[in-house]
Amino acid sequence: MRTFIAGGRVIDPANKTDSKLNVLLEDGKIAGFSTGELEADLRIDAAGKIVCPGFIDPHVHEDPLDSSGRIDANLETSVFACMLRMGVTTVIGGNCGASVCDGADYLDLVDRDGTPVNVAMLAGHEYFRFLSGAADRYAPATGEQIRSMARAMEQSLDRGCVGISYGIRYTPGMTRQELLATLSACKSSGKPAACHVRSDAGEIFDSLREFADAARELGIPAQLSHIGSMAGFGQMADFLALVDAYRLGGMDLLCDCYPYSAFSTGLGSATYDPGWLERYGCGYDVVELCEGKYKGRRCTKEIFDEVRRDFPKCVTVCHVMKPEEVALALAHPAVMLCSDATMSQGQGHPRAAGAFPRLFAEYVRGGKLSLYQAVEKCTLLPAERFGLKNKGRLSLGADADLVIFDADRIQDRATFRQPILAPEGIDYVFLNGRLAAKDCRIVSGALGRAVRV
Ligand SMILES: [Zn+2]
Repeated sequence: MRTFIAGGRVIDPANKTDSKLNVLLEDGKIAGFSTGELEADLRIDAAGKIVCPGFIDPHVHEDPLDSSGRIDANLETSVFACMLRMGVTTVIGGNCGASVCDGADYLDLVDRDGTPVNVAMLAGHEYFRFLSGAADRYAPATGEQIRSMARAMEQSLDRGCVGISYGIRYTPGMTRQELLATLSACKSSGKPAACHVRSDAGEIFDSLREFADAARELGIPAQLSHIGSMAGFGQMADFLALVDAYRLGGMDLLCDCYPYSAFSTGLGSATYDPGWLERYGCGYDVVELCEGKYKGRRCTKEIFDEVRRDFPKCVTVCHVMKPEEVALALAHPAVMLCSDATMSQGQGHPRAAGAFPRLFAEYVRGGKLSLYQAVEKCTLLPAERFGLKNKGRLSLGADADLVIFDADRIQDRATFRQPILAPEGIDYVFLNGRLAAKDCRIVSGALGRAVRV
């Protein structure tokens, strides 16, 4: 199968390319470039459009397994389907320490069942912590439990996970000893560790140092997760300066960020433990409930207390970050785009269905980023971070994952009321050389494969 993509503006930061060129795909790979016409089975007219590597989302919470043990990646409401509709061709799951099962087992399921997008996985610390018997997330683990989680995480890396992840926020019992011992799982492979650090807002600096100092001590590449929701309350400039100081000191430290000024988490999570109102300097009304009998309502103290007690899993959206702080983060060269997508039966934060088009609509058309910079944040940066050598680039022989979009029309449409609404302005998405989506509608929803490193 040969596909010829004619007349588009090809942007590929991996090869420092930004030119009008034709692209040939063959047998799932990038097979050539030309300025003239070439024979093919399928010809796509891309005149006036952007042709670039398929987007890579470095921070996703993967779809769950259904009762029969299959990945529930239905083509309507799943995270993976939302990803494909917005031009993402590869996701990194298992973030924030959480994964629905051992990341390496999940990769096997992706290959068995096929998913709407390619999937790479992190070995999530919290999952293995629980398996080790350290079930109380507020209590320290024993030495034997720590050794057991470190062993399991290293095995998961050996079986193809691209790195490990932490959600120290959600495991307050984490000690420095546990952090160092489990980070050591990355030592032999040199794979990175991503972290949702212990706390945010005024507590972000100590939290950053806790994780970065440990990773630096062991020489582990590190990724700070969704920094807009960690430092977007007035701390961002100082936070980025601290990141720069680590980087200038020789550490491989990068960040991801989603382009929204509201975050999302369960009402029962440690984020809302006592002290949160003071930390964010806000009232209960910043919390919007996404499920249950108060769906769509902002909290009062009474509603907050009732739902936190009776329905702690209730997904919330917390409208509390400063938009200019999120913009500052996304403009920084060490910050890549992510969605932090999570979905519960089609309910949740619109970032799952809108983060990538939103970067082009708000940041590129809004004059905050160049088109080239935005493409780089969506392709090359995450590919390099997680060692995906055949993704995020249009090099000869690389996997033929591509997105073709209209830079003037690309637009997210998902909202907090309608979180899975498909975007517009994305003409074609190719996955492993085959047409997966057209005009933001899924054409073929099982072309995705596991990506192992
Ligand atoms: Zn997180």
